[in-house]
Amino acid sequence: MSRLAPHRSAPDFRPVLDRIAAEIDATPERGRPADYIPLLAEADPRRFGMAVAEPDGTVYGVGDWRRPFSAQSITKVFTLALVLSMDGERLWRRVGREPSGNPFNSLVQLEYENGVPRNPFINAGALVVTDRLQELTGDAVGRLREFMRAESGNAGLDFDPKVAASETAHGDRNAALAHFMASYGNITTPIPQLLDAYFRQCSIEASCADLALAAGFLARHGTRADGSALLSRSQAKQVNAVMLTCGTYDAAGDFAYRVGLPGKSGVGGGIIAVVPGHCTLCVWSPGLDRRGNSVAGVTALDRFTTLTGLSVF
Ligand code: GLN
Repeated sequence: MSRLAPHRSAPDFRPVLDRIAAEIDATPERGRPADYIPLLAEADPRRFGMAVAEPDGTVYGVGDWRRPFSAQSITKVFTLALVLSMDGERLWRRVGREPSGNPFNSLVQLEYENGVPRNPFINAGALVVTDRLQELTGDAVGRLREFMRAESGNAGLDFDPKVAASETAHGDRNAALAHFMASYGNITTPIPQLLDAYFRQCSIEASCADLALAAGFLARHGTRADGSALLSRSQAKQVNAVMLTCGTYDAAGDFAYRVGLPGKSGVGGGIIAVVPGHCTLCVWSPGLDRRGNSVAGVTALDRFTTLTGLSVF
């Protein structure tokens, strides 16, 4: 257990992180790593790491908190924030902000709802966001990487080409979603190029410390690590609201009940969570439940909010 920056005044999260790690270590049930992306299936479900970043960049961590893992859908928070910062409300004509109540890679709602995905965090919605970022910048994943490097302070943060290739080779469902939305005119980037960008985006390797720091703008009401504004205060609240209601897919209700924070999971086993004004968290353990959320990750966040009393409620 250690921290990155010199210690200042309280709160000191070390005792609570140590206690959570000990509890998780004693818990046999860990779920199973995602197996539809073959390279992720090799991860060890006993691994566990957790980091808490304060708004000034002080980071506390325990376990595998500095070990990089596949960020996957956690990156969808950053692409959404980048698009909102450049394009404001216009995005919401192309993607909704309602929980889907369906699995993250589901196709069924898209036809009933004319190619407009329910929210930016299911795969269909994230494809629309990446498409918009590509339209706005010409280099969606380059911008994403630049942003995550700057916010985390980790200049080596990068894509994992092997994970991207592994997902491309098994990417029929995401390809189907993209083609289907293109048939409604809701995707403009050529599909192979969009899928390439999306799979590279998902393949970003980052540690709990990196991701807790990169999400810091959500605890700082939209302000970046260098003090400049990414989002307005109101937009930062909106992103947190969409995370709370949609960030863990068809388990968002259960996550709000147990953890009580805006959160975003990825099938690499990571989850980020935000206590606005106080701190950001990232937890990692690769074993997933049937909805694609880390079993030990949700438990650890549940224990964190219970033990500290921190919550948005
Ligand atoms: N790359 C994964 C996919 O598109 C991301 C899913 C996730 O993390 N929930 O299926």
